[in-house]
Amino acid sequence: MTLVIILLALAAASASAWGLSHYLGRLPVAPQCPCCRTVTDRRRTAGSVDLLLARLGGAAARECRRCGWAGRMRWRVATQSAGR
Ligand SMILES: [Zn+2]
Repeated sequence: MTLVIILLALAAASASAWGLSHYLGRLPVAPQCPCCRTVTDRRRTAGSVDLLLARLGGAAARECRRCGWAGRMRWRVATQSAGR
């Protein structure tokens, strides 16, 4: 019985990790607005979930001042150092 519970917990954990990475992969890349390509700003009315996601390095809550788009974005991970 305990083994079944452990297996179910492992399956749920891997499913949620896959779902989160799939969700993050579909987000637009910051800081360009997906509608008008203007550089977006950090959303002022970000909730606690948005702040938690941003702190974990996931999605950042951002908004566009030009066209009014608002949503979550992901930051692209740097593959090279900038000091060259
Ligand atoms: Zn825009």
